[in-house]
Amino acid sequence: MGKFELGRNEKCLCGSGIKYKYCCMGKQDEPETNINLTKKSQIDKMIKAGRFKHCIHPNQNECSENIIKAHSIQHNKILNNLSKDGMLIMFSYDFNNNNDFFINYKLIGKKNSTTFTGFCEKHDKITFQPIEDKNFIGNDKQNFLFAYKAFAYEFHKKLEQLNGYQVRFKTKPSLAKDIDFYLNYLGVELGLNDLVYYKEIFDKSIMENDYSNIETFIIKFKGSSKIAVCTGFILVYDLLGSKLIIDELSIERQKLIFLNLFPQNDETFVLFSWLKEDTEHYINFKNQLLEASEKQQISILNNLIPSYSQNTVINPEFFDKLTDIEKDNLTKVFNYNFDDNNYNLIKKNLIIDSSYNLFKNLNID
Ligand SMILES: [Zn+2]
Ligand SMILES: [Zn+2]
Repeated sequence: MGKFELGRNEKCLCGSGIKYKYCCMGKQDEPETNINLTKKSQIDKMIKAGRFKHCIHPNQNECSENIIKAHSIQHNKILNNLSKDGMLIMFSYDFNNNNDFFINYKLIGKKNSTTFTGFCEKHDKITFQPIEDKNFIGNDKQNFLFAYKAFAYEFHKKLEQLNGYQVRFKTKPSLAKDIDFYLNYLGVELGLNDLVYYKEIFDKSIMENDYSNIETFIIKFKGSSKIAVCTGFILVYDLLGSKLIIDELSIERQKLIFLNLFPQNDETFVLFSWLKEDTEHYINFKNQLLEASEKQQISILNNLIPSYSQNTVINPEFFDKLTDIEKDNLTKVFNYNFDDNNYNLIKKNLIIDSSYNLFKNLNID
């Protein structure tokens, strides 16, 4: 396992940028302050410690002073619509009595749901005006902005994750010998390196008002969904089960898909976006999805959403009407993401009939 240990000449995991041997090597762990906390409180604390505020907009000269909690899913148009008494259903982590990690649904206040501190007030407002204040008509700029928002959310989340690991390492340098910690750290760092490539492309598009670098295809359903999604992910398999993820040992970057799903008036829009240069990579997926019947498309979305996106909000009244079995089965798929044995079960079979329907109210069959 030697190669999975932090080497003396590698960059220190505290984020200093200095070699480990000149930085935290040999330092003592600080006394644990978390010992009496529940596991959930410990993780909450680590997530909180990783949080930071900055603006990722490329035009840093024009930033306003205050960084706000920006909503990844539009507040006025979508969250207001889907919430009930200011609350929404979301899926987040918890621990059972045996201290086992799992994902469960809970009511979350609209104000704090889907937010991230990745934009200053000014840039959040002016950048996303064309999708926050105007109806979606699917022009290039709107399509680009939906993809950009999903990217910004994922990018900021990754930065905070890495920061969380670094803050933790600073207080506990002995984690250098903890293989799980080291591998998780490397995984986040690798993902972030890929995202930096995307940031350059998004930045350039924004500065030059050129939105042609992003390709989006749109599926539309009649009826207004009781759910909304904003996320970016690496599709592991296409709809026929062919592997799409890039081999881990390859130096090639992973190819992200950005997914936005939202109701507008009496329609539901589903936007899949990627870099134009990745069109070839995703062409089969796109064609398979477009050739599927409406009913199949609904099934695919039912499988795909919990397999890939925790940044999903559901109207509480609609959720209440699902049967207990449906709620259980849906929760299971969210949990497969953290379960090695079932990780690919649904991801590899996105086309199978799902045992719950997140789009029941659309009456598609
Ligand atoms: Zn260090
Ligand atoms: Zn700014």
